[in-house]
Order: sequence, then C-alpha cells, then structure tokens
Amino acid sequence: MNFQEGQPDPKRCKIQDELSEKTELVRLATRLGGILCCAVCLDLPSSAVFQCPNGHLMCGACFTHLMADACLRDETAMCPNCRTKISTDLPTRNLAVEKAIGELPTSCRYCGDEQPRHSVHHHATVDCLQRPELLICSISDLHLRACHTEDFIQKLFHETGRFSAHSHQWMVRTRINNEQKDPTQSVDRHISFQLALKTKTSSSVKIHFVMVHGPYSEIQMKPLVFMHDFTNEEPESPWNPMPLKDPADCNKLLMARTLKLRYIHL
Ligand SMILES: [Zn+2]
Ligand SMILES: [Zn+2]
Ligand SMILES: [Zn+2]
Repeated sequence: MNFQEGQPDPKRCKIQDELSEKTELVRLATRLGGILCCAVCLDLPSSAVFQCPNGHLMCGACFTHLMADACLRDETAMCPNCRTKISTDLPTRNLAVEKAIGELPTSCRYCGDEQPRHSVHHHATVDCLQRPELLICSISDLHLRACHTEDFIQKLFHETGRFSAHSHQWMVRTRINNEQKDPTQSVDRHISFQLALKTKTSSSVKIHFVMVHGPYSEIQMKPLVFMHDFTNEEPESPWNPMPLKDPADCNKLLMARTLKLRYIHL
C-alpha cells in the first residue's frame, strides 16, 4: 500500500501509540506504588495493609514490629508518621489499598513475565513454564565414548549420544587440554566439558546444570553449578573445566574407554 507524502504510516502510528500507552501505564504503576507503599519500610505490602487513625499505611510486618516494640518497652505504639496512638485492639485494615496493590504489575521471578500482584503467586507456583518444580533434578547417567579427531594431530575426545532433559535433546562432549595443539606433549592434564542443545528452540533456554561422577565411581567431583543461556544461535555452552576434586583423577578417567558421568539438570 502506498501512502501519500506527508501522511503518517498507520502501522507505525499504531506501534507508537501502543508504546506510549505502555510507558504511561508503567509511569502510573510507579506513581501508585509510591503512594500505596508502607510508610515505615517503603515496600509495597504483599499481604494485609494496616493504617493509623490518620490513614498512614503500614505493611503487616511493620505493624506487628511496632506493636512488639511497644510491648518490649512497655510503651504505647504510635504511628511513626504522625505519632498518633495505634493499638492491636482495633487494628484498622485498608482493604481498598490491599486490592489496589493487587492490581499493580510485577514480574514473575522465574520467567520475568508481567503479572498482576494478586495472581503472580498462582502463576509462579502453577502456571509458570519455568517454575523450578518443573526443572528440578532431571538426572541422566551419561556414557561418553572415546573418539579421536581426524586432525593431523589426532586428539582424544569423548561424547555422549543424544539424551533428553527439560523437553529438549542434549549432548555432552569432553576435551583433554582443550587449549593445547598436542595434549600428548604435556604431563599436566585437565578435562573440559561442553553441553550442547541438539533441538531447535523458539525462545532461549536458560539452564543450570551440575556434572558429577557416575554411579559406583571412586572419582570425586565438586558439585559446581554451571549456567548457560542456550539459543539457536548459541546452542553450545562454553568449555567448562571438569570439576574434579583431585586433578590427578583426570588420568583415571582417561584410562577407561568410556567416561561415566552423571548429569543433573537443575
Ligand atoms: Zn513495612
Ligand atoms: Zn499516622
Ligand atoms: Zn513465570
């Protein structure tokens, strides 16, 4: 479609309108957050909201803290803003403020999606596709076959077949003295490993993982947690050092034709 000179492109106008509407909403939410926050800790209350007779707001935690302080000192609790007496006999809740806070947006701590505060807990514990219960502890026992590269100086490496975890297919590879041209020339040996995503993904897959020794192995490994954000453009983690407790165990691992490792997807 052609637009006459000087006439705005309706598509671009629509995007700009949506953007400025979003910015306005964010500004409004920030302003409301400043008004509805607890007068003591300045946080937005996440449960009950109390108020002094003059309407100064306090979150449940600050309110009970003030009450406990007053008991400890054998004094009357007072609103820190206006010094009016407050008491547990007739604590005044402000339901309208509680509901208004519930409508303000907040981000899910797992997936980052914006949700109204009143439903973010339900989202994070039931609906969120990245909530930890879904991801916790998928354990795969890996057998890495020894192979040699076809380079002029053949290099030993190990790799698994594909395995499934967290709804994707993965592979693990190891290299010996990765940064050296010819590892046979060095007495010092170290193994590094890489996790590779083998399936396409529509969004990035952020994974925390741990590599430990295989079952019945006498080799001890430090349970270090590694992290990588896998995307179609970057489907391989960096080469991480194999976290052996005793570096000399590297030779024990290399003696075997097959490396047995246990991979834990967090
Ligand atoms: Zn507070
Ligand atoms: Zn007050
Ligand atoms: Zn979420």
